[in-house]
Amino acid sequence: KKASNPAPARSNVAVAIRVRPTNDQEVKDTIVVRTDPVDRSVHIRTKIFNNFERVYGPSSLQSDIYRELVKKQVEDVLRGYNCTIFAYGQTGTGKTYTMEGGEGSIEGDWETDECTGIIPRSAQHIFSELSARDGIEYIVRLSYVEIYNEEMIDLLGSTAVDEKQQHIRLFEDPAKKGSIVISGAEEVPVRCRDDVYRLLKQGTEKRRTAETLMNKRSSRSHSVLTISVLIREQLPTGEELVKQGKLRLVDLAGSENIGRSGAEGKRAKEAGNINTSLLALGRVINALTTNGPHVPYRESKLTRLLQDSLGGSSITTIIATLSPTNSNYEESISTLEYAHRAM
Ligand code: ADP
Ligand code: MG
Repeated sequence: KKASNPAPARSNVAVAIRVRPTNDQEVKDTIVVRTDPVDRSVHIRTKIFNNFERVYGPSSLQSDIYRELVKKQVEDVLRGYNCTIFAYGQTGTGKTYTMEGGEGSIEGDWETDECTGIIPRSAQHIFSELSARDGIEYIVRLSYVEIYNEEMIDLLGSTAVDEKQQHIRLFEDPAKKGSIVISGAEEVPVRCRDDVYRLLKQGTEKRRTAETLMNKRSSRSHSVLTISVLIREQLPTGEELVKQGKLRLVDLAGSENIGRSGAEGKRAKEAGNINTSLLALGRVINALTTNGPHVPYRESKLTRLLQDSLGGSSITTIIATLSPTNSNYEESISTLEYAHRAM
């Protein structure tokens, strides 16, 4: 028997803004960004962007972000929904900090280290929920891929990044319509949060190797971590209830890679710098939020991969990250415009 929960009663795309603290290079720079939690607005010089789901200033805590933006989604995944959390923003504004955590925090104690990001917190949350439930069986699987230049690389597989990658393909699961299966990338069963931690470290190391082989790669690549959860529950009637949900945690390429205006976009494209997946993601989200008749999932690797986790009954959260300072004004405006369009 298949679970048929009513769709969650909230809008399907939530957009939050997070402004990071100033760093050492910015001590002489002016702060031009301010957040106002009352009307959930961001003030930048003379401009105001409002009505975000939440706004977070430079002193925000990782634990607040988790509790307010992610916890419900993880619970929805355990009820059989697909949820996606994106970090979007200019390079250096805190995407990886938000998704993974501060320096060394993956190795730290996830329960007590405040720097711990969304990925380890989610793993911890999923396993503590599952192990506390009686009368269920569950299987949790992890996959971790990177998309660079419209090529997918398996961060959990054993192929070295400079070798010819084994061909990774995406196709629709014949057993579950609309569900996307990655073939050629590992889906590793995990039994506890420490399994996740170990694989995450392995994947991150592989990403780092790729980074040294190719300068600036990390700002141009997307990483997608997927935690799939299958729960079998024996009902008192003797029937079996099966719930299957996926949590996708996405650290996007730096938004400076799409350029601000159409003109810039064109120049970037001619220079071969345009990020097809990042542009396509914007178009897919716009089509979903405006209820457009055609959602162009097939335009990029990223949107194709996320097809089963964007739209429909899936729940999407975008955390757009910003620098607070004047020298990043143009990029911050561009991020706020992209974020506002996605609502
Ligand atoms: P991105 O992934 O967007 O390129 P990072 O997450 O690597 O940016 O952040 C750049 C630097 O700023 C890192 O040293 C990171 O630890 C720090 N940083 C980012 N956001 C925060 C924050 N909210 N609080 C404290 N430090 C942060
Ligand atoms: Mg990063």
